[in-house]
Amino acid sequence: MTTTDTTSTGTPAGTAFPGGTILGYPRVGRRRELKRAVEAYWAGRTDVAELEDTAAALRRATLQRLVQLGLDPDDGSVPGSFSFYDQVLDVVALLGAVPERFRDLVADDGALDLAGYFTVARGRGEDAPLEMTKWFDTNYHYLVPEISESTPVSFAGDRVVREFAEAREAGITTRPVLVGPVTFLALSKAADDAGEGFHPLDRLDDVVAAYADLLRALAAAGVPWVQLDEPVLVSDTVDAPAARIDAAITSAYGALTDLAVGTERPAVLVAAPFGGLATDTSDGSVPARDGLALLAGTGVEAIAIDLVKGAVPTGDGTDGTVPGLGSKTLVAGVVDGHNIWRTDLAARLDTLDALRPLGAGALTVGTSTSLLHVPHDVEDETWEGTAADRAGRTPELRRWLAFADQKVREVTVLARALSDGPDAVREDLDAASAALAERAAAVGVVVPAVRERLAALTDADFARGAHDERVAAQRERLGLPPLPTTTIGSFPQTSEIRKARSAWAKGELGDEAYTAAMRAEIERVVRLQEEIGLDVLVHGEPERNDMVQYFAELLDGFATTDLGWVQSYGSRCVRPPILWGDVTRPAPMTVEWTRHAQSLTPRPVKGMLTGPVTILAWSFVRDDQPLADTANQVALALRDEVRDLEAAGTAVVQVDEPALRELLPLRRADQPAYLEWSVGSFRLATAGAAASTQVHTHLCYSEFGEVIGAIDGLDADVTSIEAARSRMEVVPELDAAGYARGVGPGVYDIHSPRVPSAAELTELLGLAVRSIDPEVVWANPDCGLKTRAYAEVEPSLRHLVEAARTVRAGL
Ligand code: GLN
Ligand code: ZN
Repeated sequence: MTTTDTTSTGTPAGTAFPGGTILGYPRVGRRRELKRAVEAYWAGRTDVAELEDTAAALRRATLQRLVQLGLDPDDGSVPGSFSFYDQVLDVVALLGAVPERFRDLVADDGALDLAGYFTVARGRGEDAPLEMTKWFDTNYHYLVPEISESTPVSFAGDRVVREFAEAREAGITTRPVLVGPVTFLALSKAADDAGEGFHPLDRLDDVVAAYADLLRALAAAGVPWVQLDEPVLVSDTVDAPAARIDAAITSAYGALTDLAVGTERPAVLVAAPFGGLATDTSDGSVPARDGLALLAGTGVEAIAIDLVKGAVPTGDGTDGTVPGLGSKTLVAGVVDGHNIWRTDLAARLDTLDALRPLGAGALTVGTSTSLLHVPHDVEDETWEGTAADRAGRTPELRRWLAFADQKVREVTVLARALSDGPDAVREDLDAASAALAERAAAVGVVVPAVRERLAALTDADFARGAHDERVAAQRERLGLPPLPTTTIGSFPQTSEIRKARSAWAKGELGDEAYTAAMRAEIERVVRLQEEIGLDVLVHGEPERNDMVQYFAELLDGFATTDLGWVQSYGSRCVRPPILWGDVTRPAPMTVEWTRHAQSLTPRPVKGMLTGPVTILAWSFVRDDQPLADTANQVALALRDEVRDLEAAGTAVVQVDEPALRELLPLRRADQPAYLEWSVGSFRLATAGAAASTQVHTHLCYSEFGEVIGAIDGLDADVTSIEAARSRMEVVPELDAAGYARGVGPGVYDIHSPRVPSAAELTELLGLAVRSIDPEVVWANPDCGLKTRAYAEVEPSLRHLVEAARTVRAGL
């Protein structure tokens, strides 16, 4: 497989694209080495030189590992995708494009040193850090750049060039990976000092000029290939019209490829992960777009497409080819970078064959996305202390899974099949097929009783009785005042709680002692809430390490890992559970804790569950059946839990769905189907509740956009939402959308350590009751309190109760 004119000297101009590659690799380290090093530096325990040394050692180990796994050390197959914190922040540093409040951190030449870089990420004193938001449909959070007419933009930071040189010294020629200029600007927001109507894309030419300077420097350093990620091409949900994005792509890559390849710039690979490049226009919601045709029309040398989320593209040339693709390499992302299942290699070879009619100059194999979103290595996993381990399931799981390192091997196997024919890798193909067959037939993957229960569901299982009848029944049962006060569920997780939980998990603390410690904590939290004067109490969730993992550990069909860390943001990592089989609930999961809390007080205690969509969103989910079916299985387990809570005397149940919006598909055409099944699974989980049981839900954001209609569709009696930072903006929006159920707009912003005054909270609640029927309004914080300290939480909740009383009196 060669592209264009391969020269014997291997100069960049003639470099064939590597036979197989990955779009990026986890950065935090197999044992979270970078996390530890960065946090030690932040805490002042080490200096910058030590941090740089640790990071360099980690980069070297990573590159060597990738070569050992089969990537070519000489041709740019190995991605240089390291970051100290975030790849979008890296571009901010590259351009010196920091917001005005941090401008003092920037040197005269525009460079931001590592200390300044972390300050922009984490804030200092009154200077808020860059805002954080989700990276496409992943659980990774990037920092949102703030750009205005006057933001400095130049080629200011040469870290990428230095890292290339460092790798080369170690004998490895990497392919630097960067967020592309269009995605960078499309994801930026207008800075506070921007003029009316300014859009960050207005600065495209400046940013492209800086990238051109970077490319010149990379070429001078001998870089054969550079990868620019443009996932903006697969999304309809970016804050810019599609036509503007497309024009920006054409303009940016036109300008960049005007530079002479080999002498003035490396060869350019544009990657479009997270979805297909063609829009589905069948519902008329978006204009026709074909990102592949668009990219093929530019001068870039290679295009990487996602064939896991995206379908095999169709060519629009008369002969079925994609015009312009004949001079380019197509990097087929057939190995899933975003999930952890072993690849069906034989099926992926068929996909590769199906691409041939497109007429690419060359075809190679890649991952669908960066491997940033999966853990390092299945072989590292000991599963120690997990339920899968106790059940003896881990040898099988190991055969069914592919973490980052396994995926690198899969890529090299497929690349070899492309170049030498399938027989050259027959053993690997057969082993993959055998593992897949084993998985399909394994005990627990299909549980007939679960399938039968799902098949027997009717519309009635998704519907509760009429809302007004429920309101009446609940009013009578609960007897709450107007503007009832409550919290979102968790109370501060003190170090004693964490210690008890981890000692118990390690077997150092016996069941009885652990239960006693948790019950004592629950009692403390209940007494505190009574004393503060809250109306609907919670047990405080001390027993939960995490709102998803807690349930994953108690449900059959899930496995948890002990080393499966994935970067969530900065130095923060999460360990998503693996949902591998049909879901069943061997025993009640929350009932005893809630029953205990309720036994302590005459006031209603809310039972607290995590909803099906959120459980799916924060897990690695089986890929062998529709998400809708998996969600309904989880919903049925929750439905049984709701019933058991009711039987234990619970009158209020909250089912949290903070991730409802997060799983919203990037393509508009896919959104209605998603909303249908996600809302449906929530209803299935909750519709078994009696009319007199009040069902709450909690959503962790205030900008509903596309999902506003869905909130009503959830048919919860009360919905609590984030609202403090947007000053209750969402309440009139809900009112305008016809929402008439209970709503708890969070008046106390728990994302900040600030203690809001009673006057402030009174004002916010006043705003709420003036924008919607006061009868439906609740007073609550805008999220759980687990990350906060009692010193802030106690006075804040007192102020909340005081504010509710004041506003109540004025109704
Ligand atoms: N009930 C959960 C808590 O209070 C909700 C957390 C969340 O919304 N992310 O912690
Ligand atoms: Zn929340």
